[in-house]
This record gives sequence, structure tokens and C-alpha cells, in this order.
Amino acid sequence: MAPRKTGTRKRKFAEALGGEGPGEREEKDAEERDDKRRKDRGNKKYIGAHVGIQGGIWKAVGACTDLGGSSFALFLGSQRSWKRPALDHSAAAKFREQCSLQRYDPAHILPHGSYLMNCGSPKEDVFEKSQALLVDELSRCNLLGLKLYNFHPGSSLGSITTEQCVDKIAGAINHAHQQVPSVVTVLENMSGQGSTVGGKFSELKSIIDKVRDQTRVGVCLDTCHAFAAGYNLAAEGGVKNMLNEFDQEVGLHYLKAIHLNDSKGKVGCNLDRHEDIGKGQIGISAFRDIVNEPRLDNIPLILETPGRPGFEYAEQIELLYSLYEKQ
Ligand SMILES: [Zn+2]
Ligand SMILES: [Zn+2]
Repeated sequence: MAPRKTGTRKRKFAEALGGEGPGEREEKDAEERDDKRRKDRGNKKYIGAHVGIQGGIWKAVGACTDLGGSSFALFLGSQRSWKRPALDHSAAAKFREQCSLQRYDPAHILPHGSYLMNCGSPKEDVFEKSQALLVDELSRCNLLGLKLYNFHPGSSLGSITTEQCVDKIAGAINHAHQQVPSVVTVLENMSGQGSTVGGKFSELKSIIDKVRDQTRVGVCLDTCHAFAAGYNLAAEGGVKNMLNEFDQEVGLHYLKAIHLNDSKGKVGCNLDRHEDIGKGQIGISAFRDIVNEPRLDNIPLILETPGRPGFEYAEQIELLYSLYEKQ
């Protein structure tokens, strides 16, 4: 994902650090900003965006603050290579320091897994590499003080059955859980494109059923993917219906996050084509329903939209918060 322009908002907290530990003044600034953020919003929605890590992973934190976000997603390393240099301990310490200074709870930070991974791959070498990368990414989360880790379940590539693919995905998760403590693996629902697994809620549930430690597995619902897979969020009551269906088939207690994306494609098109909020086939009223849905309180709600000039993440975050109707 391309880095976002950060607009004119001052990155005063990142600058305030200036290489030294946070002083009293900076603490007070952070407190004031936090109070203002809560007061302005007066709700329990943690809206943010996927931010870049160019120039150092800790820069993601300030990038989110610049956007006026309350939650964020980030990649944990290069999307191009299977083997990456180990995460630098001082960079990880800076990241943790910035999170605490800028008051981001790890529960509202959702790293996104590498697109190279396919934990359901029928090709043994790809499966092995994916399993190893999953372990590496969960270790990075621990080092960064993060609790959640979001990834795409996997694809059968059309050469094994969905059940066999589900077995492989659950096997990779169980293996990673054994190797690395505490991080919760969060499966993302898919658009149903090609032979990906996880377009149907029932497929997510069948993976969860095979995970041994079910306190360490959850789901992130991507609105564009759900719509493309046939869940009609554009219809009246569409958001409530989707959540009801999710509750029945999977269980709401597994819902750890939402990806907020409009869709270029029509309902049921199976295409993974994200669009800016209110500019696609889902439309603004579904996002109003999301922002006002109490079942989505206190979880990260994260934008992954194209962000056209003049309607980038900062503007879309502002728009979403403006849809909140005070009760
Ligand atoms: Zn994703
Ligand atoms: Zn997504």
C-alpha cells in the first residue's frame, strides 16, 4: 500500500520526543490531545487507516495521529521478500514508546500480514515458507507490544478441496501458536475471488473450529470483501443483517476488527476492488450504520481505500466521525 500524504496536521508528538524520553510537558500535551479527541468524538468508535512504515516502523504511529485516526493498520516488513532482516530492537522500542506517548492501545492496532503468504497452499514449499513467515510475523507483533495480527486465510489454487485448504490453514495457525505466545491471529473474510477460502462466514468458522486455542483466533470483516462475496450492505438494514448472520454462523465474540472499504464492484461480484467511502456500490448509508452500531464499539475500524486527492484518509476519517448521531 502506498504511503499517504499526511496533510497539514502537525506531527508534534513525534517531534516532541526529539530523541530523548518523554518529558512532563510532552505527557501533558498528549493528555490534552487525548481528552480533546475523546470529547470531540464522544463515542466508542476507533476509526483509523492503514499507514506506511517507510523510514522506520515507529513512523506509522505519528502518521496515524496526523490523519486524526484512533486506530491503525501497518505491514510488519517488506511485502516483496519471504526472508526479511530481523526487526531491529531499538526500532521496536521506539514504536512501543510512540504508541504509549500518543496513547494508542494495542487493542486498536491491527498489523496486516504479508500478501506473499498462503497458509492454505497445496504447494508444499509455499506452505512451508508461509508457515515460517506467519511465525516470524507473530514474533514481530510480540516485540512491538501488539496483540492482534490480521491475515488472509489462504487459497486452494483450485487443486485441493476447500476442506483440505481449511485443514492446512488451521494447521499453520496451530503451529504458529505453539511457537509464539499470546498474539491473536485474526482471519480476514475474502471477496470470493478465485479459489480463496474465507468468502463465506461458514468457511471462517470451519477454520476456527480446528484451531486448538480459540482464545487466540478472531475475524476482521472487510466491508468491500463481504459485499463482493454477496452480503448486501447496500440494502436497508444490510449492516445489521450481516452482523446477525456473522453472530449466528461464527459468533460476535470472534469479531476483532472491521476494514472500512466501499466497493467498485457490485454485490456478489467476487472482485476485490476497494473504493473510497460513499463513492462505490455500498454507499454512505451503510457506513452511517456502521458508525452508529453499538456491536462495533471499541474495535479498530480501519480504512484501506484508494484515497483520491482531496478525499484522502484524513478526510474520510473526518467524514466517518461526522456520521455519528449522538444519542
Ligand atoms: Zn487484507
Ligand atoms: Zn481488508
